[in-house]
Amino acid sequence: MKTALVTGGSRGIGRAIALDLSKSFNIIVGYSSSKDSGEEVASEIVKSGGKATALEIDVTNAESIENAFTTIEKEYGGVDVLVNNAGITKDNILPRLKEDDWTDVIDTNLSGSFRTSQRAIKHMMKSKWGRIVYISSIVGMMGNQGQANYAASKAGLIGLSKSIAKEMGSRNITSNVIAPGYIDTDMTAFLTDEQKENIIEQLSIKRIGKPEDIANIVSFLCSDESEYITGQVISVDGGITS
Ligand code: NDP
Repeated sequence: MKTALVTGGSRGIGRAIALDLSKSFNIIVGYSSSKDSGEEVASEIVKSGGKATALEIDVTNAESIENAFTTIEKEYGGVDVLVNNAGITKDNILPRLKEDDWTDVIDTNLSGSFRTSQRAIKHMMKSKWGRIVYISSIVGMMGNQGQANYAASKAGLIGLSKSIAKEMGSRNITSNVIAPGYIDTDMTAFLTDEQKENIIEQLSIKRIGKPEDIANIVSFLCSDESEYITGQVISVDGGITS
């Protein structure tokens, strides 16, 4: 069985992706600070008959990535499917945005995905098969008040993914981006009921998204059935950008 690594697989969207992919792949659940949650996800997969290991993978730290890949290569052979899901926000309007908040968000969301992809691609190139999925955001295409750093990081993922798609297509490695809209996770837990109602008014499908809405399309993009889809950005947003 092939092996999939989900960065930030410990919570929210990453957790749902790890659980869904476990029907078809061995799973590495990456976490940076939520060790207990990461291990819970892995044991849930094992209880349902899958194979999974939770590993610390801080995507801002090249050594942490290298250590994890050394373990994965020993126990699983390598990473065939990479879902770059780890992400953070540090919001503020431009005049108040601190340079550290800019750097931290770019370093986690964009550079973290670059580091992990570069490390993972070695095995995919050797085996002439691979799937890379980036979890961007509709904000990366539309911009958002108070999220210049986050929007820039998510827009950057689109350029990164499209370039990898062009470089790697001849080796049967696909690279695609999912751009979620508003999804119910810890990241959006700050939204008040009134704010949620305002968002729902702008949607064609009248509900906030669930992590499983993202997991379903990720599983398809990681399957053999999606082998002719690469370099794409697919919005999963209840129609907010339509
Ligand atoms: P959560 O805040 O619920 O989860 C974030 C995940 O990222 C956690 O598993 C966390 O792991 C991990 N993470 C954070 N920093 C690092 C790091 N340095 N190294 C490795 N992992 C890290 O967020 P969501 O589930 O909502 O978001 C998942 C992805 O989806 C993010 O990229 C986000 O930008 C994107 N997204 C979310 C939307 C939403 O509405 N929720 C909309 C559009 C995009 P740990 O706890 O172990 O640190």
